[in-house]
Amino acid sequence: MIEPFKQRIYVTRPVFPTIEEVTEKLRDIWEAQWLTNNGPQHSMLERELTEFLKVPYLSLFNNGTIALMVACQSLRLSGEVITTPFTFAATPHVLSWNNITPIFCDIDAETMNIDAAQIESMITPHTTAILAVHVFGTPCDVATIQEVADRYGLRVVYDAAHAFGVEIGGLGIGTFGDISMFSFHATKLYHTVEGGALVHNNAHLKQRIDLLKNFGIKNEEEVVMPGINGKLNEISAAIGRIMLGYVESERQKRIRLHAIYNEELGDVAGLKLMSTCAEDVKLNYQYYVIRVDEAEFGRSRDYVYEELRHYNVYARKYFHPLCSEFTCYRQLSSSNPANLPVANAVGQQVLSLPMYGGLTEDDVRKICAILKSFGRQL
Ligand SMILES: *Cc1c(COP(=O)(O)O)cnc(C)c1O
Repeated sequence: MIEPFKQRIYVTRPVFPTIEEVTEKLRDIWEAQWLTNNGPQHSMLERELTEFLKVPYLSLFNNGTIALMVACQSLRLSGEVITTPFTFAATPHVLSWNNITPIFCDIDAETMNIDAAQIESMITPHTTAILAVHVFGTPCDVATIQEVADRYGLRVVYDAAHAFGVEIGGLGIGTFGDISMFSFHATKLYHTVEGGALVHNNAHLKQRIDLLKNFGIKNEEEVVMPGINGKLNEISAAIGRIMLGYVESERQKRIRLHAIYNEELGDVAGLKLMSTCAEDVKLNYQYYVIRVDEAEFGRSRDYVYEELRHYNVYARKYFHPLCSEFTCYRQLSSSNPANLPVANAVGQQVLSLPMYGGLTEDDVRKICAILKSFGRQL
């Protein structure tokens, strides 16, 4: 009999900088007497992140959702945009907020990303773009997506909220497509408490995005477009500058924990682990996701999820329900389960297990022992 954990183990925990580091930066802000509106911390963080993410242009935002809304505006997207149902609610919601109809395309059974081979069949005369998500930090099939987009004159936007620091062949993940969005929410690998960014390859687009995130204000006399307030404040920007120093050590800790999960769960019948990527892909190891095959494992994902809670392990069913099952989207014809067989099957099986640098190796081994005790006893 395994003893429950004494304290709740959540799926993630934010990385905290030391209070001394924060105090030091706060002192700089108090000295400058500048709290928001493109202050010195903001400018420095934009430069530092542009370099860190290996992208040509970057604009900071107060969160990833507003950033993605502005991405749609900046490219003047309209009509229909092809996206994935296997994502966080924000992805289709930004389309709705832009009066765009999300068209859900099924996902790939291995990567759980949009199935690039099926995008073409979803295109209509109203389609203006593809909004793909690098789910759990696994890169989409960026080459095929670009090829389809080019053939039909569509824009490509990536929700890279899970993919901070991911690279393909030494190129920052944000260099693919027209625009990529990063989220710097506290629960992500890298954060500014709340925050986000848009990255792209185009100086003109940066100008337009920076206008859109500041009410369209060009100068004291001219407001040139209906913008919004997407600005990141100085305190968040300062924390973001500190957190850049934590990304690689946090990633290394998670690499170690991933390896232990893989070692412990690799041979368990009915548990499918995350797919491995091509050699030239640098991953960030932000999440650890398994799929529970009820027939083989002997128990359903929902059983595992509930039982883990009795041991104080709070796993999460990311992403269940699918966005296509939300009351606001399920009437769309693309939401029909017959159109999304893989996404619906995966949605019944996925479980995100606890993954953050503060977990010990023993914690992970114990979570695995608990999990394995639910399976078919051989
Ligand atoms: C976190 C997240 C977002 C939203 O980011 P916020 O910064 O919280 O607005 C969007 N898409 C995905 C896939 C996310 O995980």
